[in-house]
Amino acid sequence: MNGHLTNGVVNGTSYERVQIINDEKQFMPELTPEMERWGLHNAGFDYNIVAVFGSQSTGKSTLLNRLFGTNFDVMDESRRQQTTKGIWVCRAKGMNTMVMDVEGTDGRERGEDQDFERKSALFSLASSEVLLVNLWEHQVGLYQGANMGLLKTVFEVNLGLFGKKTADGRNQRTLLLFVIRDHIGTTPLANLQATLTADMLKIWDALSKPPELQDRQLSDYFDLSFAALPHKILVPDKFEAEVHELRKRFSDKSREDYVFKPTYHKRIPADGVAFYMEGIWEQVQSNKDLDLPTQQELLAQFRCDEISTAALTEFAEQAKPQKKPIESGKVVDGLGSMMRAWRSGAIARYDRDASRYHQGVYKRKRADLVGVLDSTLSSLFLGQLKNLHKACLVQFKTAMLEGMRGEGYSFAEIVSATQERCEKRFLEGAQEALVEGTEWSYDEELELLREEVRHVADQCRKDETKKMVNLIERNFKKQISEPVEVSLNKPESDMWDTVLKVFRGTLDKAEASYLVKAKSFNCTDEENETSLASLRRRAWLALRSKVDEQTTDAAFLTKLRAYFEERFRYDEHGVPRVWRPADDIDGLFKNARDQTLELIPIYSKIQPIDPALDFTLPSEEADSLSETDYFDFPATRIIFTETKILDLMSRFRREADAYYVEAKRSTVSSVAQ
Ligand code: GDP
Ligand code: MG
Repeated sequence: MNGHLTNGVVNGTSYERVQIINDEKQFMPELTPEMERWGLHNAGFDYNIVAVFGSQSTGKSTLLNRLFGTNFDVMDESRRQQTTKGIWVCRAKGMNTMVMDVEGTDGRERGEDQDFERKSALFSLASSEVLLVNLWEHQVGLYQGANMGLLKTVFEVNLGLFGKKTADGRNQRTLLLFVIRDHIGTTPLANLQATLTADMLKIWDALSKPPELQDRQLSDYFDLSFAALPHKILVPDKFEAEVHELRKRFSDKSREDYVFKPTYHKRIPADGVAFYMEGIWEQVQSNKDLDLPTQQELLAQFRCDEISTAALTEFAEQAKPQKKPIESGKVVDGLGSMMRAWRSGAIARYDRDASRYHQGVYKRKRADLVGVLDSTLSSLFLGQLKNLHKACLVQFKTAMLEGMRGEGYSFAEIVSATQERCEKRFLEGAQEALVEGTEWSYDEELELLREEVRHVADQCRKDETKKMVNLIERNFKKQISEPVEVSLNKPESDMWDTVLKVFRGTLDKAEASYLVKAKSFNCTDEENETSLASLRRRAWLALRSKVDEQTTDAAFLTKLRAYFEERFRYDEHGVPRVWRPADDIDGLFKNARDQTLELIPIYSKIQPIDPALDFTLPSEEADSLSETDYFDFPATRIIFTETKILDLMSRFRREADAYYVEAKRSTVSSVAQ
């Protein structure tokens, strides 16, 4: 353990390191939670990764700890052994930088397999921007040395990874920063740099490259940079001072030699780093070809799904409380503004986190997300419209009934004002519920509402018309009652002429009053025709029922009797007769009886003498207003049938006979006195 970060190279708290690849070569799951603790989870692209390369025990971990304030294991001087393998990551103190330390046996020197070396090289290259290549000064120029073998591995691996151009051709460069340790100073850095550069080119040229990559230069993939550090043990102060200087190249963005240039960034959003690294390691481990674009796409799919799910969950929680009221038929106030806020919130949330990932995947998943959002919202929208429609219709009905209470209103005005209010309310509600970006429409619902409103208005008008026709009918009955009664009690041969004249006059007035009112109802001509036909028929039936009332057997026989008596029992001056034997009882009796009998046919049918006064109605099927059955006009003119006439005649004769007998008797008794 390295516990002495004492001389103020780095300030601030140090972070916990985390092992991401253990010595069993397994990927460990702790990176994601650790990154949250490091505060890097939401950094987006605003973070860097640096990794280190070099032979074992060249002071790599020591360097990282000094440079970045990390606490990677340093080999114990006294025991000089280190058997663990693995990859560790720690956040640098005071920087948005993750530092990757590779631990392991040096297979090359110990004659072990170089498997881990190769795998860790792949892994580091796929994710880091800067590779520190750590070597002793005395190793420089030893072209055949262990370090060079390592670099050859790095180059090979890099070709495999980044050789084929990725779709956007970016993010393929890596900075190799050589750190020359135990630099004595006799050989200037510039010379060492030249030697190393030449060696690099030699290695590069000697590399067996696939045919399609033959022309590629080292500089197509790497930038080289150099630094030298004095001996840590012999000149510790100088060492610390130089480390302090070197650190500036990692922390000071304004410097020209700032190492984290955007071009080196692997463009993995911080919240996807762990998943990405796991995928890379899995591929590396199974010795599959590491296809970075595919890895990035897989990462994007995974992360965009996660982000989308999170956005949807929040959205669903927001939308849920409004679902029930809508389903139960309520119009939810301000639903539109709520829906707009939920929708744009969810999309903004998705965009914020997902837009950093592979653009194709990001856009595709975004469209999916919007689709799910809109289908949820659309059902709320349609529910709201339906409820609004119902509420408006109910309001319309209530307002119509309210308006039609009492007298002296204009039906047409009530309808049009109520209709307007109803439609206005619907439109306001429907427009409020619209959401930008969707293709929703309320036209269909509005059309349905209009249709139903029209239907209700029609029904109201029908009721209203019915009410009015009933009223007119009642008035009509009152008006004809007396004149008809008077006429029927004064039987004349033109009795029906008088009755029909009254009937006609009263009916004309009734029709006129109907038409005046109907005008304010906006009734159609057809409706007027129906109503007037009904009115006429009902007027006629009213007349007929008045006539029936006056011609019941009892009433009619009374009329006949009165008529007969007037002629038989009274003289022409209206003085009651006292029969004397000399009186022509037989003649008078016959006369009075026959005149009275003549009345029966007159009463038996409504038939004026003047044909101009005659009234006629079409016979029809059912009448929609009065709901009567089949109407047979000619039949309604008949008051007494032939049989009835004969019956009445014989009944009257019998009564008349009684009068005759009585008259006869009275002469006998007067003689007897
Ligand atoms: P690593 O295996 O490359 O990570 O090396 P370590 O950091 O574990 O260090 C290996 C040994 O080298 C330790 O005993 C350190 O004390 C020692 N060491 C570290 N830095 C230097 C240095 O700059 N010069 C010398 N000569 N020794 C160093
Ligand atoms: Mg180490």
